Amino acid sequence: MINIVLFGKPGAGKGTQAEFLKSHYQLVHISTGDVFRYNIKNATDLGKLAQSYMDKGDLVPDEVTINMLEAEVEKNPQAKGFIFDGFPRTQAQAQSLDAFLSRKGMSISATVALEADDDELVTRLLKRGETSGRPDDQDEAKIRNRFEEYNQKTAPLRAFYTEQNKFHSINGIGSIEEITQRLMTAIDSLQ
Ligand code: AMP
Repeated sequence: MINIVLFGKPGAGKGTQAEFLKSHYQLVHISTGDVFRYNIKNATDLGKLAQSYMDKGDLVPDEVTINMLEAEVEKNPQAKGFIFDGFPRTQAQAQSLDAFLSRKGMSISATVALEADDDELVTRLLKRGETSGRPDDQDEAKIRNRFEEYNQKTAPLRAFYTEQNKFHSINGIGSIEEITQRLMTAIDSLQ
């Protein structure tokens, strides 16, 4: 079983790359951002709660996000493995993910972080916002706030996974194919 965590600031290409990795390694892709957006679209209680945070570019509280992630994993008992995209984003989420997987006899195989500089990412996100309709992609202040959340709360997870010898940094600048290749080289070196 391969379980991969994809890190990277908003716009780094996590979603795009997850699509390729998912079909290549036959994994179930769980994007917490996508699950939240699905709930917002369907006006569920979870969606209503998440929306106020997401619209500002703030993280949704840990407890809500952790419960949601666990429910998504539970929905896929036959999975050969998972790609966690956008989760964990805090130390508490990382710890509870380790504990949850270990209760199920599973573990994280590797975490890969797509690296790109902020100005490049702002340009990408504003462009995506023209077609995605996502309010958090259409305003530079909200985008910068998402980066700030990442720097403060998510970046420390680098140390958390480095200690477990599971952290890989990947250059996220280049063509989509080049970046997929870099990711696959890192993942194949695990086996
Ligand atoms: P994303 O699609 O990954 O860029 O996520 C969009 C937004 O969803 C984030 O800015 C957060 O508000 C929320 N979100 C997604 N994943 C998480 C998470 N693991 N923890 C807290 N909030 C999250």
